[in-house]
Amino acid sequence: MKVSIASLLLAALTLAACDSKTATTGESATSKATVGAADSLTTDPAAAKTSGTQATATDEANATPAPDPTTIPAGKAGDAAGILARPQVPILCYHQIRDWTARDSKGAKDYIVPIAAFKAQIKMLADSGYHTISPDQLYAYMTTGAKLPSKPIMLTFDDTDLDQFTIARPTLEQYGYKAMYFVMTVSLGRPHYMTKAMVKQLSDEGNVIGSHTWDHHNVKKYQGKDWETQIDKPTKTLEEITGKKINYFAYPFGLWNTQAFPELKKRGFVAAFSLAEKRDQQDPLFTIRRIIASGYWSPKTLRNNIVQSF
Ligand SMILES: [Zn+2]
Repeated sequence: MKVSIASLLLAALTLAACDSKTATTGESATSKATVGAADSLTTDPAAAKTSGTQATATDEANATPAPDPTTIPAGKAGDAAGILARPQVPILCYHQIRDWTARDSKGAKDYIVPIAAFKAQIKMLADSGYHTISPDQLYAYMTTGAKLPSKPIMLTFDDTDLDQFTIARPTLEQYGYKAMYFVMTVSLGRPHYMTKAMVKQLSDEGNVIGSHTWDHHNVKKYQGKDWETQIDKPTKTLEEITGKKINYFAYPFGLWNTQAFPELKKRGFVAAFSLAEKRDQQDPLFTIRRIIASGYWSPKTLRNNIVQSF
């Protein structure tokens, strides 16, 4: 059966918009902040740190290499209370980076960040002193309290869109920023999507590649061979492309259920990323929160949402 990527994406956009309660638009988009606030155990980890530091984006971030997450003792990863007690690191989720067209729906524009808006958002992060961290650094921090650079943030890009390579990559490079790319493997090499060579290059350049299923099916509906089709095979493909173990997963549409956790764990994943909903209280490592950086957001709105949501 041929899968239409356009229809999949449309479904993804619609579902994610409904499910994650993030579909507000414009300068007063605060609903996702409210959703996140209930789960946040500190008021504002970013603001609590020294503000106004204008350190370059790379120096501090590179100071302490994170340990391989698989070497961290199981007891640490299983300490849900300890993990929940630590302030959350802000994590942004991007999809398409391109200028809007007349065909883009109002809802889709949350997921399509115009090029100038994207560049302005990233510049704001750099000007505000944010340092991008890797998922391994995040994992070490969450499980062991390992030190992070000041104003840590994680940038993630879902769905394999080509503009993540052609637009986001050089923009992030300007500031010494690294990111995490959650790849859905069905799209590799198709028009408007990244090729395997691009994914390998991103990985070689110090970004981290994560698994985002084969064709974006909802994890909550998997049965039988779905785990093999959606998780096992795509993950193996990504490991062959990058030559590295794939440790991290992002749920399509941000949708998860607790039955998915043991399935992901037994396949070697150490953590999984959702969207803005509250974390699971027993398995916070498998429901790490992200917010979608909306195409409607000015740098100032993004900054406010980062502070309020995490
Ligand atoms: Zn996705």
